[in-house]
Amino acid sequence: MAIDFDVEPEFQEQIDWVQKIVTEEIEPLDNFMRAGRTRDGQRLDKNSWDAIRAYIKELQQRVKDQGLWGFHLGPELGGPGLGQVKLCLLNEILGQTRMGPTIFGCQAPDTGNMELIAHLGTEDQKKRYLQPLLSGEKRSAYSMTEPHAGEPGEFKCSAVLDGNEWLINGEKWFTSNGASADFLIVMAVTDPDKPLLERASMFIVDRETEGVNIVRNVHGLGTPIKENYNTGPGRGGHAYIQYDNVRVPASALLGEEGAGFVGSQTRLSGGRVHHAMRAVGVCTKALDMACERALSRKAKGELLANLQMVQADLADSYIQLKQFRLHVLYTAWLIDKVGAYTREIRKEIASIKISAAKVNHDIIYRAIHLHGALGMSNETALGDMWMSAPQMGIMDGTTEVHKANLAKLMLRDYEASDDLFPTYHLPKLIEKAQDKFETVIKNYIAK
Ligand SMILES: Cc1cc2nc3c(=O)[nH]c(=O)nc-3n(C[C@H](O)[C@H](O)[C@H](O)COP(=O)(O)OP(=O)(O)OC[C@H]3O[C@@H](n4cnc5c(N)ncnc54)[C@H](O)[C@@H]3O)c2cc1C
Repeated sequence: MAIDFDVEPEFQEQIDWVQKIVTEEIEPLDNFMRAGRTRDGQRLDKNSWDAIRAYIKELQQRVKDQGLWGFHLGPELGGPGLGQVKLCLLNEILGQTRMGPTIFGCQAPDTGNMELIAHLGTEDQKKRYLQPLLSGEKRSAYSMTEPHAGEPGEFKCSAVLDGNEWLINGEKWFTSNGASADFLIVMAVTDPDKPLLERASMFIVDRETEGVNIVRNVHGLGTPIKENYNTGPGRGGHAYIQYDNVRVPASALLGEEGAGFVGSQTRLSGGRVHHAMRAVGVCTKALDMACERALSRKAKGELLANLQMVQADLADSYIQLKQFRLHVLYTAWLIDKVGAYTREIRKEIASIKISAAKVNHDIIYRAIHLHGALGMSNETALGDMWMSAPQMGIMDGTTEVHKANLAKLMLRDYEASDDLFPTYHLPKLIEKAQDKFETVIKNYIAK
């Protein structure tokens, strides 16, 4: 009997350590940065921000000393090589924070880009881009989606060879961290006449390269649009970028020419599992808040916790969360066991990607609703959490695209019936059973 929901004591100690630093250091840091003011209402000045940056570096050093810096990485890249299940258990805790991934050196989009360069990069690319990413000296972005289309078949941004250089032209949009990144990984069509999966290639482009123009730094729902016109570094956001005659050397090609779309999957598969487990962390926090509120607030003289419709909502959230968590952990366990992104595993990854959006939506909505006006205010973290719900259904491929893929993968395990009626049509099964039992009865009587 190999199924075991415990982790070994040494790893439990790591989990406890992470939970402690999250509770004692990172959550207060999140809250301090949310307000951006001192207790007496003063906006933080440059010195204060420098102090915060130094504090973050100190926390990062503590994480390094604990052997957990870049915990998603294998030992060949200087990480602990924990495997997916353990990664999930740590991501579940970090999902409860905003700054956690930065402090642990596993923030998106750098993590996926590290995987890409580690798998596909040349020795020179690893030295110039991967090493500084791993050590936290450089930041990166992934520039694939275009303003007119998120679907690879529609992409227009192109790269053509001009002598010994590639010339990149086109527009990209929603390049997360694009304005702050030191370099961008750009997907560009290199041969529009090839079959879809061989049409595009990836390039590493330094952000300072001439012709890389940030049009706007787009932010999420709820952020005032004036922020989008702040296109300088250090602003977060998802850049709208024009690549206008951007020249890069032939050596900027990442992986094989024409292997861009296939290569991009390297980046997304593991990341989707980590995102899903961070969603578990977010939903756990939302449910904890809902439970505390239900026990603290009265309506018409009755605690919310005693009202049956509130109880039903809490129970629904609990069940959804537990089922989702188990599914994510099962997927992680399968990846560890098989060691490759097989069809079976891609099925599970698509499933949890789809569920993450739905579970986030349902649990966070119920928590907000239970909090009444407080839930609608910006004085709890529920607003930030709520923003993550619709995002989950869009980023890394929309829910609909994943549902279509999942259905296709599922259907490969089935065959059409070659008869007028299906194989499970009862009259047919009964006839077969009658034949079988006629013999059984005959043999019995003959004995
Ligand atoms: C928070 C966030 C961060 C992101 N970061 C990055 C990044 O760093 N780099 C990057 O390149 N991109 C990034 N993106 C963009 C993301 O990858 C795209 O938004 C996503 O691929 C969907 O593309 P789209 O926005 O063009 O939507 P569309 O493809 O236009 O889809 C719109 C809607 O159409 C419907 N639809 C689409 N396809 C189908 C289908 N096959 N069947 C049925 N219905 C369908 C769905 O309802 C979908 O919601 C990010 C997005 C978000 C929200």
